[in-house]
Amino acid sequence: MNLKDNKNYEKFDVIIVGAGPGGTTSALALAKAGLKVALFERGELPGQKNVSGGILHYSEHLDRLIPQFWKEAPVERYVTKYKTTVLSSKTSLSFSLKNDEFGKPPYNGYTVLRPKFDKWFAMKAQEAGALLIPETTVTDFIFDKDKKIIGVKTDREDGYLYSDLVIVADGVNSLLSKKAGLRSDFIPEKISVAAKEVLEIPKSVLENRFNLKENEGLAHLFMGEATQGVEGGAFLYTNKTSLSIGVVGKLTSLQECKISIADLLEKFKNLNMIKELIQNTTIKGYSGHLIPEGGIGMVPKLYGNGILVVGDAAGLVCTTGLTIEGMNFAIGSGAVAADVAVSSKKAKDFSERFLSKYGKQLRESFVLSDLKAYRKFTGILENPRIYNVYPSILCETVSNFYKVDGKPKRNIRSLLWKQVKDKVSCLTFIKDAIQIARAILWK
Ligand code: FAD
Repeated sequence: MNLKDNKNYEKFDVIIVGAGPGGTTSALALAKAGLKVALFERGELPGQKNVSGGILHYSEHLDRLIPQFWKEAPVERYVTKYKTTVLSSKTSLSFSLKNDEFGKPPYNGYTVLRPKFDKWFAMKAQEAGALLIPETTVTDFIFDKDKKIIGVKTDREDGYLYSDLVIVADGVNSLLSKKAGLRSDFIPEKISVAAKEVLEIPKSVLENRFNLKENEGLAHLFMGEATQGVEGGAFLYTNKTSLSIGVVGKLTSLQECKISIADLLEKFKNLNMIKELIQNTTIKGYSGHLIPEGGIGMVPKLYGNGILVVGDAAGLVCTTGLTIEGMNFAIGSGAVAADVAVSSKKAKDFSERFLSKYGKQLRESFVLSDLKAYRKFTGILENPRIYNVYPSILCETVSNFYKVDGKPKRNIRSLLWKQVKDKVSCLTFIKDAIQIARAILWK
């Protein structure tokens, strides 16, 4: 399609860049509100370029847009079991959570495969009236003489398109929010890189192996030796007839440890415990991606003249070490951006001053509240000892507690201190313990 020749859509109310969960939510909400919307996606299909370990956490915003979305969305399994395993060189220690409520509607989380989910979600936006323009990369903005954004330039010939407002949802490495002057370069310390594989496995084998009933799912995270000293973690999620398995590592830590993310994934898959879990599976897909993990401190300016930024492009990802929530944050911010766009349209005001409502509404929503509430976890996750010292202290202490060798047993406190003294100074340990306690117990 020649964008300039498309007379019906010469000027849109809103142009959205990126058909991930953030952009598509805005597109769907705006189309439902009767606005003229164009949704650009550089991939051949939405989801094609997207990767995610795959837990879509329950989203009230999505439920409002598509009531009981889980009934028709291509979700794989309802996550009923959450498990975290801490690995040292010879021990693994697991914590497992099963809550009966998680297995009942509206469910707590759903495993999804993004190529399927994003495609379905974009189709819902199209059905509501949004124009999806795939295989098109937005390369820059069109500004008027007052520096207000009035449209976008694309990589198509004559590919200029005009609108009152542009919603930028182009993901973690958002070149467009940088071009709009809303953010500067990313700090590598705040960015992680991930590699993920989808492994095919027969349904009955999967359910037997992971002790799951029909439609039940497991989200299993791994820490410590899982990443061979690299600051990060690993995951294994169950889909209908496949497993999503992956590793996440901080960019800077991978460089320091001189290991690529692809090699790290191979090493993870070759751990004895993991080999057992993934035996007799076939690789169906591989992908790599970045994750913004800077928390609230990494959130850039979220609006400007004629522009709003949502999802990963705005650094809206909440990582706590036990969970990663990005999709529901993208959906939440996409919905709030759509709300603000509708009131802008009513007021015929797309100025930065009017659009600043977006920042206010996001602060009132779970999106910025959660990022603020868990900001101290970001600090903990920046401590390298969380990845390469404490897992081993924990595993060995508990292991020694269980050990029976005919000698008198030492109490657990002295078992812990022995490990601490062997691996880290007592002062450092106390400082770290206070930091963790403050993150959990203090506001
Ligand atoms: P994206 O999903 O990245 O979508 C951006 C879209 O924009 C893409 O489709 C891209 O092709 C398109 N695009 C980019 N630039 C342009 C351009 N110039 N023109 C046109 N189109 C463009 N989150 C969770 O909630 N749960 C999890 O379990 C989870 N696990 C994860 C595991 C991994 C390995 C990774 C990498 C991420 C994980 N996340 C998870 C995070 C989650 O995937 C993201 O937070 C979420 O996808 C952000 O959505 P988004 O719409 O902002 O961006």
